[in-house]
Amino acid sequence: MVAGGGVAALEAVLALRDLAGYTISITMLAPEEHFVYQPLSVGDPFALGPAKRYPLAKVAEDFDLVLHHTALAAVDPAAHATRTSDGEELGYDSLLVATGAARQPAYDHVLTFRGQEDGERAHGLVQDLEAGYVRRVAFVVPSGTTWSLPLYELALMTATRAREMSVDGAELTFITPEETPLAVFGGAASDEVASLLAEAGVDVRTGVHAEVERKGEVRLRPGDETFAVDRIVALPRVVGRPIEGLPHDEQAFVPVDEQMRVPGVEDVWAAGDGTTFPVKQGGIACEQADAAAADIARSAGADVDAKPFRPVLRGQLLTGSKPRFMRHHLAGGHGEDSEVSTTALWWPPSKIAGVHLAPYLGELPEVEPEREPEVPLDVEPSGEAGSRIWI
Ligand SMILES: Cc1cc2nc3c(=O)[nH]c(=O)nc-3n(C[C@H](O)[C@H](O)[C@H](O)COP(=O)(O)OP(=O)(O)OC[C@H]3O[C@@H](n4cnc5c(N)ncnc54)[C@H](O)[C@@H]3O)c2cc1C
Repeated sequence: MVAGGGVAALEAVLALRDLAGYTISITMLAPEEHFVYQPLSVGDPFALGPAKRYPLAKVAEDFDLVLHHTALAAVDPAAHATRTSDGEELGYDSLLVATGAARQPAYDHVLTFRGQEDGERAHGLVQDLEAGYVRRVAFVVPSGTTWSLPLYELALMTATRAREMSVDGAELTFITPEETPLAVFGGAASDEVASLLAEAGVDVRTGVHAEVERKGEVRLRPGDETFAVDRIVALPRVVGRPIEGLPHDEQAFVPVDEQMRVPGVEDVWAAGDGTTFPVKQGGIACEQADAAAADIARSAGADVDAKPFRPVLRGQLLTGSKPRFMRHHLAGGHGEDSEVSTTALWWPPSKIAGVHLAPYLGELPEVEPEREPEVPLDVEPSGEAGSRIWI
């Protein structure tokens, strides 16, 4: 049984079929009808079209899944049984919990960008900037955020748009507790992001924690510096979704070992944003799903090697012109191996680097977006990756 219909759940299902074939049956519990590809939601404010959506029913058909449109409510590990939000009881031999995380506003008085659901409001801000109603915008990464890339994309794309529209006097400031911009990708990638921000005219304040006590005012800590802005765009705080019967930490994230087993709970694995691993990112969620799938396939009798989770961060930064591909080992023993390039560092050159998910989604027809794109994605050709943005 796989609980979830997002990135980790889909990667795990595809990996399980690859490793164990059709010798196992797979039940999926997913409350939503569609899988929404969140990384491209940063294009929505710039009228590049809403995030792509794919029907889960098609995935179920392609991979012979028993799909229940419901949520996992509780697990009874001793009985190998689950209860769904509809009150139904379903048994399992192996259970993978891939229920993701919730995104909650970190501040009042700001535009919290959680993804697709906030695309329209962010579009309104860009329009206000273009029309001259808004001049000073602060982009704020809240303390505790580990995946800040979407906010860098919004800042860079806003700067590009302001330049293209010849907006007079736009002042964009990026505020983050990170010691250097996008530090999670290591030195070389971080230096590149710093250069991109400088070229775009975005003022960057690193190593500071922002407080927002009232509309239009940001206070920086340590110290007491405040400055006034017209609008504030912030990332949300990410918190876990507790499931009755499973252990979790104080933020409701589920603990896991390197095979993605939940310690002390027999035959239960977890993968993705809902686990205690600090970096909440799609490529990482896929690597965790692959590790879990290998271990689940082994426990079901398939002759496959263990594939312990060894995190390598792969990210594609949209900039308003050429995207940047960045890669960095997060586990020790690799020295300083930060890489950044305008050509693809993995293939297919997708935003979410899932070994199974990326090629599959590349072939899968998306359903009609809820709104029509107004203009095509404006990306210059970049060598191997070409001019198409892979999802
Ligand atoms: C704006 C934005 C931009 C991003 N950009 C990138 C990027 O460029 N590259 C990248 O790698 N990552 C990116 N990410 C992060 C990436 O989307 C997440 O890390 C990834 O989706 C996590 O996968 P997941 O499976 O853990 O959770 P999700 O993909 O969120 O899936 C969780 C699923 O579980 C379902 N669910 C919830 N509760 C239950 C329950 N009780 N029972 C059953 N199902 C349940 C949900 O409906 C959902 O289908 C971005 C995220 C956002 C918001």
